[in-house]
Amino acid sequence: MADCLFCKIARGEIPASVVYEDETVFAFRDIHPKAPVHVLVIPRHHVATLSDADDPALLGLLMDRVRHIADSVLRLDAGYRVQFNVREGGGQEVFHLHAHILGGW
Ligand code: AMP
Ligand code: ZN
Repeated sequence: MADCLFCKIARGEIPASVVYEDETVFAFRDIHPKAPVHVLVIPRHHVATLSDADDPALLGLLMDRVRHIADSVLRLDAGYRVQFNVREGGGQEVFHLHAHILGGW
């Protein structure tokens, strides 16, 4: 999507602190971290919100990558929290589907 902030980050048009990328997902550090480790994991394909994510294969892959990034890339051995903010009432501010990984306390 042309003017979506997270699409631009995934395309490399806006700089980000990238922690992981593959052909389907992209992960980078949150610019305003709410935990010692705060990473956002997004699909490269634009989906606005979890409510619109009607592809079970994409959601399965996203969650598999969340697990991989938290456990094997960030090595949050003590554990971590995974959060989706869904639409305005859920506190979503950027309308490109993303999982928050929070940990490192
Ligand atoms: P949400 O409230 O779930 O939509 O979360 C959006 C998150 O994106 C917030 O935690 C912001 O701090 C984060 N954010 C906004 N702009 C950027 C950016 N340019 N780079 C990294 N994270 C960002
Ligand atoms: Zn987007």
